Amino acid sequence: MDKYVLLTKISRSNFERDVKELATRWPTRHTLSKHHLAIVAHLEARFRAMGYRSTRHAYEHSGKQLHNVLAQKPGGSGGAILLCAHFDSRQENLGAPESPAPGANDNATGVAVLFEMARLLKDVPLRVPLRFALFSGEEQGLWGSTAYAAECKKRGEKLTLVFNLDEVGYPDRAKSLFLDRDEGGVPANNAASATLVARLEALAKTVVKVPTKIDPVEASDYVPFEQLGYVVTGLYEGEYRYPHYHKSTDTPDKVDFAYVTDMARLTLAFLLDYAK
Ligand SMILES: [Zn+2]
Repeated sequence: MDKYVLLTKISRSNFERDVKELATRWPTRHTLSKHHLAIVAHLEARFRAMGYRSTRHAYEHSGKQLHNVLAQKPGGSGGAILLCAHFDSRQENLGAPESPAPGANDNATGVAVLFEMARLLKDVPLRVPLRFALFSGEEQGLWGSTAYAAECKKRGEKLTLVFNLDEVGYPDRAKSLFLDRDEGGVPANNAASATLVARLEALAKTVVKVPTKIDPVEASDYVPFEQLGYVVTGLYEGEYRYPHYHKSTDTPDKVDFAYVTDMARLTLAFLLDYAK
């Protein structure tokens, strides 16, 4: 059977539902807002409803206990693939934790694509474990991913690769899929990232049939992992073009859901190609 037949099961309406829910159910997902724990509980419940055991990863920052949300699909004996996205949001004033910050493109879209991967791959045998991480504190400076990356390193975890999804809903004119290549940081893991990006490029061309552009790895949750030597890549459509970036106007009507669907198709093609 065609290895990529699962791509036809990707549901655009799931992205529309998830982005709308995350962007409207709470006025903000700011990590220091009073909604933090309710949002964490919601994300855990979503994993559980798909049949996963979900756990919280707690860390301390700014005198508060904060949380990331994790789930893992078992498989094989190699190091896990870590698929991650930040669930927090911000608006114009980062210091106003209760002010409206719907964060539809940034980054309800990444969370929605991650959930769709969890749903579709739940019972697909893979040769390595697939771990899902939803991080908080990204907007303040990668708090959640920094804490979690340090814990992985301390445990001596051999993660096969880290794949980050951030802002996957606002295309350029050509609707290019933006691939992130590690070109800086520690040098030892750069070549492996370039190999992954070449694989993504090939899959975009032959399976997804959408053009691509390459950006450097920067300013999102893969950075703390990169700095600890892990191999990283991701999809991230270039925040500076998005007119509603970090604004209270980052609402679901600004998201191009056909583009989100293409980003999800490439993510799924990559995971199947790499791990099936
Ligand atoms: Zn973001």
